[in-house]
Amino acid sequence: MTAGTATTTSVSLAVRDVHLAFGANRVLRGVDLDVARGATACVIGPSGSGKSTLLRTVNRLIEPDAGDVLLDGRSVLRDDPDALRQRIGMVFQQFNLFPHMTVLRNITLALRRLKKLPEDEAVALARTQLALVGLAGKADSRPAHLSGGQQQRVAIARALALQPEVMLFDEATSALDPELVKGVLGVMAELSAGGMTMVVVTHEMGFARSVADTVAFMDHGVVLEAGAPEAVFETPQHPRLRRFLSQVL
Ligand code: ADP
Ligand code: MG
Repeated sequence: MTAGTATTTSVSLAVRDVHLAFGANRVLRGVDLDVARGATACVIGPSGSGKSTLLRTVNRLIEPDAGDVLLDGRSVLRDDPDALRQRIGMVFQQFNLFPHMTVLRNITLALRRLKKLPEDEAVALARTQLALVGLAGKADSRPAHLSGGQQQRVAIARALALQPEVMLFDEATSALDPELVKGVLGVMAELSAGGMTMVVVTHEMGFARSVADTVAFMDHGVVLEAGAPEAVFETPQHPRLRRFLSQVL
């Protein structure tokens, strides 16, 4: 590197000192998180520590009281929320598919509404995404006729069809029967390997260890410790993290 050359940081998503309270409950108390372009950050931590709330502030389902969320160095807090949700996709524990629509329609709906794509383009894109999550044959099925794992893969395909820059996953496998978890984690691992920038809230410590570039441990509304998975899992510094790991591993 030449002296004096501006080093362009490859940080894609940056959460900066984000605070949020629900009434007297201070749920986020100064959260910082950096996710490099193409990297996967896993967020772990006890129930109630603010993980879901953090993800929701990133794509602006909730507005933080203070702090900032930067995408490519630019604050997202003044963007139009609909435009932002095309740039940041989110997958929830409950798949939130529309039960009365076919799988295909669940995917094309957002493409038509948000991206204003004509029907034939929306259908083509939806079919491509369905094939990528291994569900090419399920386009005309209703969600109720799919397994939970298949429904979650449809939800992932739906988010990916919008061609987001970042994907957020909030305990995407927690509602699944154990035998269905692997397929969904497999799709997520492939997405990660393919270079998607991801923030994954998960209780799947094996996934965090093998897929994450960074693991962040949240407790009581702050990231107490963050680092490479080997560091976080093998040489945890904070006593609270050590206690958490001793309970979950
Ligand atoms: P986690 O995902 O780590 O389990 P959450 O972010 O869901 O934690 O919740 C953190 C805290 O915020 C909890 O005390 C929860 O009760 C509270 N909380 C979350 N969402 C709301 C809301 N919409 N209104 C009031 N309190 C909320
Ligand atoms: Mg949660």
